[in-house]
Amino acid sequence: MASPHTVVAGLPGEERLQLLDRLWEIQQRDGAIGDAAVAGLARWLGLSPLEIDEVASFYHFFHRGAPARHRVYLIDSALARLSGHDRIREALERAAGCRLGEVDAGGRIGLHSTPCAGLSDLEPAMLVDGIPFCRLTPERVASILARLLAGEPAAVIAAGDDAADPATAAWIERVAPVTLRRTGPLFFTDHRDHQRLLRECLERSPEELVALVTDAGLRGRGGAGFPTGLKWRLTREQPGAPKYLVCNADEGEPGTFKDRALLSRAPLDVFAGMVVAARATGADRGILYLRAEYRYLRPWLERQLQALRDQGLLGDAILGLEGFDFDIRVQLGAGAYVCGDETALIESCEGRRGTPRLKPPFPIQHGILGHPTCVNNVETFAAVSAIAAQGPERFRALGTAESAGTRLLSVSGDCGRPGIYEIEWGATLEQVLAMVGARDPGAVWVSGPSGECVSPQRDGGRRFCYGDLSCNGSLMLFRRDRDLLSLVRHFTAFFAAESCGICVPCRTGNVNLLQRLDRVIAGRGSERDLADLAAWGELMGRASRCGLGATAPRPILTTLERFPERYRERLAPADDVLLPGFDPAAALAGGDPGEGTA
Ligand code: SF4
Repeated sequence: MASPHTVVAGLPGEERLQLLDRLWEIQQRDGAIGDAAVAGLARWLGLSPLEIDEVASFYHFFHRGAPARHRVYLIDSALARLSGHDRIREALERAAGCRLGEVDAGGRIGLHSTPCAGLSDLEPAMLVDGIPFCRLTPERVASILARLLAGEPAAVIAAGDDAADPATAAWIERVAPVTLRRTGPLFFTDHRDHQRLLRECLERSPEELVALVTDAGLRGRGGAGFPTGLKWRLTREQPGAPKYLVCNADEGEPGTFKDRALLSRAPLDVFAGMVVAARATGADRGILYLRAEYRYLRPWLERQLQALRDQGLLGDAILGLEGFDFDIRVQLGAGAYVCGDETALIESCEGRRGTPRLKPPFPIQHGILGHPTCVNNVETFAAVSAIAAQGPERFRALGTAESAGTRLLSVSGDCGRPGIYEIEWGATLEQVLAMVGARDPGAVWVSGPSGECVSPQRDGGRRFCYGDLSCNGSLMLFRRDRDLLSLVRHFTAFFAAESCGICVPCRTGNVNLLQRLDRVIAGRGSERDLADLAAWGELMGRASRCGLGATAPRPILTTLERFPERYRERLAPADDVLLPGFDPAAALAGGDPGEGTA
């Protein structure tokens, strides 16, 4: 069994699993990843420096340029833009003495922009040396930077207490409070006795544990809704050892922060669910893949893992069960939305660029280092603990026939009560909007940009369930007077920036969509542009390799379908469009004049 801290256990290629960790260490020590460090890593792994460079350059949080003692990331999400992002940016640049994207002359501060960091209910926000600072004002930004430059650690400034211990629930609650608005019956319901829960589970055979989640009707909470029991059974049936079990905590979908809530408030539910899954699948190596934006949770999570080891609930012969060896290691990501895709996540775990793999083979057949790998989401593992504690019948009785149980929603945007809600599958959009105190809702983004933009007026009766609004946990609300097309542009630009670039429909399609959208927003578009946006989006949905490219057009497609008037009111008058889409100003400036020139 692999030690949780040193992953090298003699498997061919396993040293490379440490590459992201080593890059993090170097950056924290040196302020950036320099050429000498790259050369050293290359020698150690028997790779060329170029191969190390191509990994480091893939991730937003790794820097190959000028070193900086402190790294500040201002969150530039759609919700941050509506909550004073621009004022905070000005204050930040003034206090740091450099622009966003630069390192100041003294090498003290590097200022950067980053997409949604799982703090949508606490915007505007920023990360300073990995520590979140939320609900910012310009005055607070000035004070934070002054204290940072005076030598105070970010962890202390954020908590406002020099005895701050980042490995405690109290510290987390101070820096990034979780607002549980309506919880139960499954999540955050009580403080479970995890030792007892696991003791009872381990009295059952692996097959009985597979049956437990199958009988409950549990489906993966990552978005696709694949039946969890089936995935576990297929993993168990795969020949070969070792087997990996991965908890996907790369919660990158803009507007989602429920996994942050679970890891902050109920980490033992998540880890106990992983132990049950390990027993059921035969996995002996566990990995919690934690998104870089949640780096501040790591000390807290490591402390929980150590407590489980101390109780004999992780490690060799768990609870005295001979042959059941399983431990969990935290693998920190480094900032790449595409790593939410399970095959990209596996590549990242292997110390590579997060490039999605072609399927088949599927991860359960050929995952980390070619070994069977079962990937489940944070909420899925927490649900396993709830099912084990309360019984599959109780879970199955909740929700609908096809969508058993409940769903956690991260609610943000224009509403009176943002935060975390647990709803039963089957609740209507109208009911949820009333519950969260929606303010004059004009558009609701369900499942983030990769999901669906719906109209409260037309879609109020639709239900949250796998056959209808199969929400992945993100619910963003926007008032009627919000500029819908600027939101669509923001999301489309996000996908263009996050594309890994390996396949053409996504790499060029996103840029083409963005250019055509800009033309419409600028008042130079025609009906032809709208038709092209729809056709290209449909093509990307069919031809892209992974979910990112397939869903990237959805902000455009779903708003075109639900709110066509928002586009049509921006089109150029028909008699102004001699050549559809042709932009004379861009043509004279040598830019993209549009296809009307052809
Ligand atoms: Fe990469 Fe986009 Fe292709 Fe996915 S669809 S593999 S993100 S280029």
